[in-house]
Amino acid sequence: MSEAALATRTAFDAEQIRKDFPILHQQVHGKPLVYLDNAATTQKPEAVIQAIVDYYRHDNSNVHRGAHALAERATEKFEQARVKVAQLINAAEPREIIWTRGTSESINLVAASWGRSALKPGDRILVSAMEHHSNIVPWQMIAAQMGATVEPIPVDSTGTLDLDALQQMLDERVRMVACGHVSNALGTVNPVERIVQLAHQAGALCLIDGAQAMSHMRVDVQALDCDFYVFSAHKMFGPTGVGVLYGKAALLEAMPPYQGGGEMIESVSFAGTTYNQLPYKFEAGTPDIAGVIALGAAVDYLQGIDRDAAEAHERDLLEYAEARVRELPGITLVGTAAQRAGVLSFLIDGTHPHDVGMLLDQQGVAVRTGNHCAQPIMDQLGIPGTIRASFCFYNTRADIDRLVEALVKAKQFLV
Ligand code: PLP
Repeated sequence: MSEAALATRTAFDAEQIRKDFPILHQQVHGKPLVYLDNAATTQKPEAVIQAIVDYYRHDNSNVHRGAHALAERATEKFEQARVKVAQLINAAEPREIIWTRGTSESINLVAASWGRSALKPGDRILVSAMEHHSNIVPWQMIAAQMGATVEPIPVDSTGTLDLDALQQMLDERVRMVACGHVSNALGTVNPVERIVQLAHQAGALCLIDGAQAMSHMRVDVQALDCDFYVFSAHKMFGPTGVGVLYGKAALLEAMPPYQGGGEMIESVSFAGTTYNQLPYKFEAGTPDIAGVIALGAAVDYLQGIDRDAAEAHERDLLEYAEARVRELPGITLVGTAAQRAGVLSFLIDGTHPHDVGMLLDQQGVAVRTGNHCAQPIMDQLGIPGTIRASFCFYNTRADIDRLVEALVKAKQFLV
């Protein structure tokens, strides 16, 4: 990056945005917190925290069941959140939005429900070699039950998916291609539109794991034409414990329920039980009502900021961080794909990521170290893990300067 480019700042007012996130304004080990662990979970704006408080203070009651004002209010807000999420990702209809506990549960739901009804011995499931364990293990579990196989789509040493290899792997036995939109370990933004196209040309379905994409970019599931798109509220400024499964209505209609219980039935008798319509067929039991309503508040928050400016700001942060970290001797970046978002993964020669992470924490800088639940790609790269700084639009260049300062001190101590 040139001096001039390093000096350029974007129009996005991150300082103003930071005021919305109370947690950012604290000291850790006597230093102002620099939160660079956004890929693990994003922080929550006041509006999201307030939505949870408001629900428990004013509306707490069960949804879809009570014949009283509180239940009506709770149900209305709960269903409004579904409409908001459907609009955010441009789903054709709100009933295509299923509430789950998170990305992991959404993938488990599709693997178990679709997989049980659709897979036959000899069928193949392709996942990228850089997937999070959540987009590998559920497929391995159902594949083992059904006699199918799970195969990795190759990824090169920069963290770029090999589309030619994918094309060669696709045949009529491939039933599902499951791929992350953005890699949590390396930051790679995968060409998901093309991946969906290739999967469909081969007659396979395509599930996109959007856990890391939702906070960084706008997503349009109809434009992508993906069959399933999954994500977690907590990685997009909402609360933990709530996730989203988007699925095309026709596919969801054809899938059997995942779990049994209240709400997912139309009628129950010992002579035979019938199931509820979408989306309730997949929502057994009392859901995380406060969490869903708070996710609705997170969507409102996202819709209220200038996403183009936020994206430009985040690109600037990533470029600036990369340029600053590259200045330090003995640092190796891990994951240098041309298209990346939000994540800078790296190693310091002669140090273990965990030791670096602890020393950064002592200086108030929160990063994550380890294999980031993506052991296969770490094994392929021949490393135990990385130091991962992950950014969000509320981060600033000053945060990155603090990271670099802390890295210099950690290096002095360790090397
Ligand atoms: N997929 C990706 C790409 C992730 O980054 C994560 C979490 O780090 C997950 C799936 C799992 O998300 P959750 O733990 O919210 O289910």
